[in-house]
Amino acid sequence: MKRNFIPYGKQFVDKADIMAVVEVLRGDWLTTGPMVETFEREISEYVGVKHAIAVSSGTAALHTAMFAAGIEPGDEVIVPPITFAATANAVVYMGGIPLFADVQPDTLLIDPELVESKITPHTRAIIAVDYAGHPADYDELRRIADEYGLLLISDACHSLGAEYKGKKCGCLADITVFSFHPVKHITAGEGGMAVTNDDKLAERARRFRNHGIDSDFHKRASQGSWYYEMVDLGYNYRLTDIQCALGRSQLHKLDSFIANRRMIAKIYNREFLELEGISPLNVKSSVRHAYHLYVIQLNLDELDADRGQIFTELREAGIGVNVHYIPVHLHPYYRNRFRTGYGLCPAAEAAYERIISLPIFPSLTLKDIEFVIEQMRKVVRKHSAVFAL
Ligand SMILES: *Cc1c(COP(=O)(O)O)cnc(C)c1O
Repeated sequence: MKRNFIPYGKQFVDKADIMAVVEVLRGDWLTTGPMVETFEREISEYVGVKHAIAVSSGTAALHTAMFAAGIEPGDEVIVPPITFAATANAVVYMGGIPLFADVQPDTLLIDPELVESKITPHTRAIIAVDYAGHPADYDELRRIADEYGLLLISDACHSLGAEYKGKKCGCLADITVFSFHPVKHITAGEGGMAVTNDDKLAERARRFRNHGIDSDFHKRASQGSWYYEMVDLGYNYRLTDIQCALGRSQLHKLDSFIANRRMIAKIYNREFLELEGISPLNVKSSVRHAYHLYVIQLNLDELDADRGQIFTELREAGIGVNVHYIPVHLHPYYRNRFRTGYGLCPAAEAAYERIISLPIFPSLTLKDIEFVIEQMRKVVRKHSAVFAL
């Protein structure tokens, strides 16, 4: 029996999404029109913040957050190593220095104690990453940020819709960023959003996405409608109305998407908590997980194969497993430019040898889920030292 390949993630686009995009194409505004503001308002209402600034990608949102935070050359920003490179790259875009604080081995979330140990007089901000959709320890990170006068930024590209102690990701940090890449919870094709309750940070973020141009309409009105001032060096990071229409339409489905992801994770957990040789990541009882990723760790001392071999066998069986992530501090760019490398973050380095992401997305069928479980069991049992006896 030849089966289709099941990817680890995939967008879900329906007729309503298509109609929403077509409607914009028939209208007057393709960009910087009413859909942008509406999408921003809906996201800000959904997560419970005052301001939302739509930008062209999650990476652009991180860059915007770093600009709004006022990161300057030589400033240090503390980041976790287990994340997509863009988290740390955004610091470097501003001339800043990313300091890698290791993760907790059971959740792969940044360890607040290690964050505190990295702080120097040059440290300006912390970027927490809600890895896989599990919110970071915001109470503890907030305490540290306040004690040392740092800004707390949240890379919530995995955690739109997740909750920490009953509060939505988006209102837990000074600035939070989301991504609308097709593998994320909702998509706009590409796209991102920076959200904040701070008026000043919001104003700087708005300027940054539009060439650093001051969008003060009162000034314009009093000096002639042609007048504007460029006050900062910004970029064109605008998101189009076409994309915002898709994002809005997707947002209406977000809660059902998350419900599906949580249901899939529950089935996986039931099977994989029992299976010798692997361990799902730990989930704290204080959070509502959004399951952008479903990650298991191989218990290598119980297996006679390494991650590479098990990964290959799962791929050959038609399971689109993946690895999230290569620790950022091990990439050649960071090793060369910031002299990072092995030994800097031992927990992240050890986890990297053990992690595999399994397929999880809203349209994954029960049959697919059962197939993933069956193949996972087969491959892991084949290499289980216990079963070999
Ligand atoms: C996806 C992602 C980004 C980047 O978002 P893009 O929209 O692809 O630019 C940044 N950080 C994390 C943790 C992500 O998963």
